[in-house]
Amino acid sequence: MRPDPLAHLAAELDSLKAAGLFRTLRVLDGEQRARASFDHRSVVNLSSNNYLGLTTHPALRARAERAVRELGVGSGSVRTIGGTMALHMELEARLAAFKKTEAAVVFQSGFAANAGTVAALLSKGDAIVSDELNHASIIDGARLSRADISVFPHKDASAARRLLEGLDRSRRALVITDGVFSMDGDLGALPELASLAEEFGAIMMVDDAHASGVFGANGRGTVDHFGLHGRVDVQVGTLSKAVGALGGYAAGSRALIEFLCHRARPFLFSTSHPPAVTAACIAAIDVLEEEPQIIDRLWANARFFKAGLQALGFDTGASESPITPVIVGDGALAMTLSDRLFARGVFAQGIGFPTVPRGRARVRTIVTAEHTREDLQFALDVFKAVGTGLGII
Ligand SMILES: *Cc1c(COP(=O)(O)O)cnc(C)c1O
Repeated sequence: MRPDPLAHLAAELDSLKAAGLFRTLRVLDGEQRARASFDHRSVVNLSSNNYLGLTTHPALRARAERAVRELGVGSGSVRTIGGTMALHMELEARLAAFKKTEAAVVFQSGFAANAGTVAALLSKGDAIVSDELNHASIIDGARLSRADISVFPHKDASAARRLLEGLDRSRRALVITDGVFSMDGDLGALPELASLAEEFGAIMMVDDAHASGVFGANGRGTVDHFGLHGRVDVQVGTLSKAVGALGGYAAGSRALIEFLCHRARPFLFSTSHPPAVTAACIAAIDVLEEEPQIIDRLWANARFFKAGLQALGFDTGASESPITPVIVGDGALAMTLSDRLFARGVFAQGIGFPTVPRGRARVRTIVTAEHTREDLQFALDVFKAVGTGLGII
């Protein structure tokens, strides 16, 4: 018999198991709700990006169902051949208006939007100046672009300035940051970086995956939150988190969007969104515009829960958003904390290296607009009992 060329993978998995870092996937038994059933256990769900509860919103369901009935389940082609439907054009027009930009283009995911956009905008000889905690999709796009990548310490605008000063001014440069950092819940240094980009003639780009639907008026994102309209050249967002469906988009000038439609590889080489997803996203924008009180509920819950964790004595880092990490340091301890919380009815995922730096392992919590005060108080009580039992507080 031929020797197994993948035999080394078993050894790698064994070392993960030995380190207590091997994870099995939790399986959601029904709807993605604030109280949900995972692995046949009813839990307060603090592990969903469904910030506004839109995954099950009646308006989104109705629009998606109608799209399936009228248009089928697939789009049949990439956008540039036969896969551009009227719904795609409608969604892009709605997104551009929502983001107050000239144009927008939709991708299959936020990952594809980031990676495709960064890789299309830069090429060999160009420079990318990137926050060290930027999302993996930005890092992959940067690598695919073959531009030189310079990383500055998290949110350190003076370090970003020194990197820009060291660049040859004839080179094209991109300054890029997450709007909200997904593992820490803090905000990127947008105002400072936008000023630097202007001073050095660089392109300014923000990834607003966790800010879309959460920050700014009606959830327009961090550019709106910081009052930076017109000063951020490329805004990427996701349709998969607060918007409740799936997808990503880039928004900016008409020239930027037309260029991406010719050069962004996920747009050219991967089939477009199915009608139901596109229709649900359009309905979600209606909800953001018409029911902003849902976003107010999200923030009231976020403030309550964050204050509760801090009062218990947990290290919640520098969070400024509905994402609140409970930082414990050791990777195995984070996984034990997560498992014990789950056994007592609270689902908050443990996250270790390489998703966060070594020694910064954590359990990450995300509250949504759908959580009741009873849900959140229950979760705080469980955190208190388990955290005390493990000697974390
Ligand atoms: C989730 C996330 C993405 C990817 O978005 P998807 O729509 O899930 O592909 C990109 N950037 C950040 C910061 C994220 O948190």
